[in-house]
Amino acid sequence: MKKALITGITGQDASYLAEFLLKKGYKVFGTTRRSSTVNNERIEHIQDKITILQGDLLDQGSLSSALLESEPDEVYNLAAQSFVQTSWNQPVLTGEFTALGVTRLLEAIRTVNPKIKFYQASSSEMFGKVTETPQKETTRFHPRSPYGVAKVYGHYITMNYRESFGIFACSGILFNHESPRRGLEFVTRKISNAVARISLNKQKTVELGALEPKRDWGFAGDYVEAMWLMMQQDKADDYVIATGENHAVLEFLDLAFKAVGINDWSEYVIANKTPHMRPAEVDYLIGDAAKAHKVLGWKPKTSFKQLVEMMVKADLAMEKKEK
Ligand code: NDP
Ligand code: GDP
Repeated sequence: MKKALITGITGQDASYLAEFLLKKGYKVFGTTRRSSTVNNERIEHIQDKITILQGDLLDQGSLSSALLESEPDEVYNLAAQSFVQTSWNQPVLTGEFTALGVTRLLEAIRTVNPKIKFYQASSSEMFGKVTETPQKETTRFHPRSPYGVAKVYGHYITMNYRESFGIFACSGILFNHESPRRGLEFVTRKISNAVARISLNKQKTVELGALEPKRDWGFAGDYVEAMWLMMQQDKADDYVIATGENHAVLEFLDLAFKAVGINDWSEYVIANKTPHMRPAEVDYLIGDAAKAHKVLGWKPKTSFKQLVEMMVKADLAMEKKEK
């Protein structure tokens, strides 16, 4: 039986990856950092099937202990301060978690067992102010936020441990991927939840920032398969994972309202609100996942429309339950 350790097991992607690996017959371990309240909503349904260990990206000893205890074949580093907006308020902490945290984990692997395979959650935010369209593995990075900068560091240190120590270390450069389990602070889930609440008369309006930026949005459930496929190759490498289609925030908004039968949503939306505008914006992301398709045989299965409708439907069900 193969064993996998996932950092950030309480996060969106980790919950889908854990489900996926359990189906593949893996023994799954996940790390959490200490918090004063239980934060396991996304993994409640599989909690009895996985083993939770303590592990904080700030504390290398805790990472080594988690490796010694779980003896994994594969480590998926999904833990991070993952919200771009917060990275301007906490740039140093974002660097500690999202950049140096990767080195701490790689160091733990190098010293505990360098045969452990390593997956790094790299991000399309590394492309930032894009220099080429669509973006692929060779596109130059120009990050536009402390989060993007930290991810570039994580990406290069992963490559460096592969080249320096021969560790099987790969990065998935994943474009935005969403789901009903996405954090409420991200624009897609903020919209799907607000639309559900507005249609149920629980909320009057939603305040957003810029509606013009475009993202290549996919479904998180499709993307975790690509992470696993990268780890099954003979050679570690880096891959862009994307749908190859992009849409403006405005289009997401429009489809979400249409999903509850509201065609004219102008009275419900307040756009360009200050707290949601960013000091430097990423205007246009669209990925070219041809390499992943060719080498891994990976392709996304969920369309943009299906994704929006899935998220609105899930939020409607949740909001109806919560009176
Ligand atoms: P989430 O924000 O949902 O999950 C992040 C996880 O990291 C949470 O479990 C969080 O724990 C944990 N974490 C945060 N700080 C620490 C720390 N110091 N030590 C240990 N754990 C910590 O992110 P996603 O699931 O959406 O993303 C997974 C990874 O993929 C992240 O690295 C993200 O940056 C990256 N990524 C995501 C994309 C996306 O569109 N979703 C796109 C490209 C990359 P807690 O619950 O305690 O906060
Ligand atoms: P990101 O691509 O990782 O930054 O994902 P987000 O979901 O946080 O943001 C996607 C895009 O939506 C960015 O261009 C944001 O500026 C834009 N956006 C517009 N309004 C909002 C908002 O209210 N919240 C968030 N999170 N993003 C918004």
